[in-house]
Amino acid sequence: MAIKISDKCISCGTCEYECPNHAIYEGGMKWTLSKGTKAKGTFQLFDGTTIDADQKNPALSFDTFYIVPGKCTECQGFHDKPQCMEACSVNACIPSDLYIETKEQLLAKKASLYA
Ligand code: SF4
Ligand code: SF4
Repeated sequence: MAIKISDKCISCGTCEYECPNHAIYEGGMKWTLSKGTKAKGTFQLFDGTTIDADQKNPALSFDTFYIVPGKCTECQGFHDKPQCMEACSVNACIPSDLYIETKEQLLAKKASLYA
């Protein structure tokens, strides 16, 4: 299950630096799959969408920091716990019920991002 950022976010920016996949972006900033990962060329996201790893994609939020579900591995393969949840002082990082994934799926996502 990917983590998401709720509207409790005060945009302090702390979590962005804790994410091993650079899955967290400031509101309004465009995101790329390749930033902070080894993804390159044409890449298929877990939902079946195909994108270029270097393409700049529209921001998913303009009001708060946001998490790209296709890059969030819930920190599997790096840490025991989601580092954004650990770092956020206002508990704005919470599990997303839109992206339910098993540990095996999260590890497979991590492996594909660093293949
Ligand atoms: S989610 Fe939490 S740690 Fe991240 S920017 Fe918002 S308030 Fe800061
Ligand atoms: S759970 Fe880990 S991989 Fe996902 S956004 Fe938070 S810090 Fe990044």
